[in-house]
Amino acid sequence: MSAAYRDTRADVDTAAIRRNLSKIRRRFPASVRLMAVVKADGYGHGAIESAEAALAAGADMLGVALLEEAVELRERGIRLPILVLAPVPPRYAELAAALDIRLTVTEADWFRQREEFRRQSGAPRGGGTRTPNGPPLRVHVKLDTGLGRIGLRTREEWEQIVPWLKREDVVAEGLFTHFATAGWADASFVKKQYERFIRMTEWARSSGIHSALLHCCGSASSLRFPEMSLDMIRIGAAAYGFYPSALAPQWELEPALTLRSALIQAKRVSAGDTIGYDRAYTARGEEWIGTVPIGYADGWSQIMQGGEVLVGGRRAKIVGRIGMDQLTVRLPGPCRAGDPVVLIGSQGGEKISCAEAASRAGIVPQEITASLTGRMQRNYEPEFGSEALTKEEYAWKPKQNVLRR
Ligand SMILES: *Cc1c(COP(=O)(O)O)cnc(C)c1O
Repeated sequence: MSAAYRDTRADVDTAAIRRNLSKIRRRFPASVRLMAVVKADGYGHGAIESAEAALAAGADMLGVALLEEAVELRERGIRLPILVLAPVPPRYAELAAALDIRLTVTEADWFRQREEFRRQSGAPRGGGTRTPNGPPLRVHVKLDTGLGRIGLRTREEWEQIVPWLKREDVVAEGLFTHFATAGWADASFVKKQYERFIRMTEWARSSGIHSALLHCCGSASSLRFPEMSLDMIRIGAAAYGFYPSALAPQWELEPALTLRSALIQAKRVSAGDTIGYDRAYTARGEEWIGTVPIGYADGWSQIMQGGEVLVGGRRAKIVGRIGMDQLTVRLPGPCRAGDPVVLIGSQGGEKISCAEAASRAGIVPQEITASLTGRMQRNYEPEFGSEALTKEEYAWKPKQNVLRR
């Protein structure tokens, strides 16, 4: 969004992303490569800005979920190697190779289909097979060790893919897997998956594929089990300060996003007055209700109903239904339109972390930031931090409501 005329915005501290990744980079040996995962628009923090922070932190590679995300990074001038972490339709293999984008492969049939597309697209011009003399296609083979989403599982499937990996125009650059329970206190299934992965990588060795990078750890497992880091770690959530802090307290990573707004109305209501769609909230007595211009069309979903925001340095409960554009809160006292609201972050002495808001809604913190829509203004001004008001400025002061009720 080019201009914003609304006080609702996400302030993104790209320096925090850089510091988080630098801290992780520094605590692993130099032989462990660092992939910064910037899919889903950098978990809602901005893909380009996150990629630049990752570059500054010494990341070796970027990870994305979609080919379009990789292409956009290239179009915006990002030159780091990029891996698309899930299979893309084989007809886009040439595009990926031309842009030095690595692809994830899981089966021999993908390569067969790629060959068909090549033959077809080469045919109209002279009828011969197009000779692949462009850059090689770099691939990482995904192995399913227990997550059950993507990846080859059997030795047979491996043996079928090997001849394709050995072709001249293909580089088998990596072998990887992904854990199902890295955030659980009980590490036994992670260990089981790790052992399976190591056994499966032996297949590669016995097939004569020796130089592939082995990687299995995302954020939670990298921070908790550095001994499993192998050749590369894939860090997404932790770059943005999301990690199982109870299980890995030594890391002290910083959140990078503050979500702010300001009241567009504050009013006094009486016992029995109802608020919002379906009259979902009824005032029990004389109460102050504030209206905040953020709703589910901004990514602040109705699952956040019953949560809290900060107004005047104090917590205010979200009451009534969250609408498309607005939500309502029960204020701790008199307020007026324009008073700052913090949905994620600190105000005065109070703080609502993304983790707190997420756990109340029963989701993971990155779902909150990744759900922020294009209508949400992102602010990267480096000086936004200076806006953070002091405790005194936010100290509770009853204010005269401008709208008389
Ligand atoms: C998203 C993703 C990651 C990053 O996971 P985090 O827990 O956010 O660090 C790593 N690996 C794969 C395959 C992914 O899809």
